[in-house]
Amino acid sequence: MELLQTPYFVIDEAILSKYYQMLTDSLQQNWSNYLVGYSFKTNSLPWLVSFVKKNGAYAEVVSEDEYLLARRLGYENREIIYNGPYKSESSFREVLLAGGYVNLDSRMEISWLYRLASEYPEQTFAVGIRANFDLEKMCPGETTMGEVSGRFGFCYETGKFAEALQLLRQIPNVSVSGLHLHSSSKSRSVSIFRSIAQMACKLQQEFQLSLSYVDLGGGYCGGMEGRPEYPDYFPAVAKELSRCFVPGQTRLIVEPGISLISKCTTFVTSVFDTRDIKGTRYVMTDGSRFNIDATMIKTSHLFHVDYAKENPDDRPLIPQQIISGYTCMECDRMFTHENSPELVPGDRIVYENVGGYTMSLNPLFIQYFPAVYIRRGDRLIRVRRKWTPEDYIQGAVLETASE
Ligand SMILES: *Cc1c(COP(=O)(O)O)cnc(C)c1O
Repeated sequence: MELLQTPYFVIDEAILSKYYQMLTDSLQQNWSNYLVGYSFKTNSLPWLVSFVKKNGAYAEVVSEDEYLLARRLGYENREIIYNGPYKSESSFREVLLAGGYVNLDSRMEISWLYRLASEYPEQTFAVGIRANFDLEKMCPGETTMGEVSGRFGFCYETGKFAEALQLLRQIPNVSVSGLHLHSSSKSRSVSIFRSIAQMACKLQQEFQLSLSYVDLGGGYCGGMEGRPEYPDYFPAVAKELSRCFVPGQTRLIVEPGISLISKCTTFVTSVFDTRDIKGTRYVMTDGSRFNIDATMIKTSHLFHVDYAKENPDDRPLIPQQIISGYTCMECDRMFTHENSPELVPGDRIVYENVGGYTMSLNPLFIQYFPAVYIRRGDRLIRVRRKWTPEDYIQGAVLETASE
């Protein structure tokens, strides 16, 4: 098979299907009234969105741009789950008027809702509230917010949640019918989700909520050696939820992102040059750290090497080869390859588990977006071509000589 021009991402469709199926099977078995909201911010590649849409997922969006993208890709307003602190009032109204899911994040949104509800006194508006609570206390050391606090939603411990509820209960044609409890964690453990479910029960009981949905948010693991998979989470969640809810009345919403797409996605790069400087071997590749670690936080990468020619066992072992990117920034170094066969131009380094965030957090820096292919059987089908300067300059204005 002819080799494709690197760099490019590949999404293995069979693996993606397997994970999607694993998710919905586990939900079906544990809480048959469920809904999947796919997290756009994790990776909104149009092909991927159309894949999850075809499989029944709603669009979980956190900005007006993401909302408009979902609409552009065929989502109806009622198929939107609208979250986060940065909604626009017009899209907020569209989704609510159509009966989509809106999880309130701020006082400002309560005032938008107040205005909307007064304009449509004949209509009832069902909304959800994002609860901010001390998950760190329930799961010490596991959350990303740590001991300070999270910054999203209405805080339970300080009484802001109760206050928001009170305001909403004063609007005659508004009902609080959902709880949104997304919290990001470092551990992505089963106990994080058990605690989130416990919090849903606690809020339901303390405030006598009558909920048509509980939204656990995202943050699951998937496809990571030795870590939990979907079938580990939902029995634990269902056990907690069933103390206060029944599937007939309350729908379980999940918002997976990275757990669906990590395992199925790889990023293929090639070595184009090597150089020795003061005893250090630099291996220059056409992928960049900005493609796979835009926030510069990874300390290790999953990868394998496809050697271009001769048996790698015949190559000399090099104590340290610094695998670097194509950009002109010194920090663009991915990892140090230790005591391994010498890499030469044409060898390919393939990074694994790079589907979440890496593709969507890609900057337009020095090179534009790489191509994306899907693997279907033994074929690779291109679902996004490499971006060119034409794509980059769309919408731009040039200085012209004015008469
Ligand atoms: C980021 C996010 C998700 C998805 O998180 P993953 O870690 O990719 O699963 C889901 N819901 C909300 C509200 C988010 O902010």
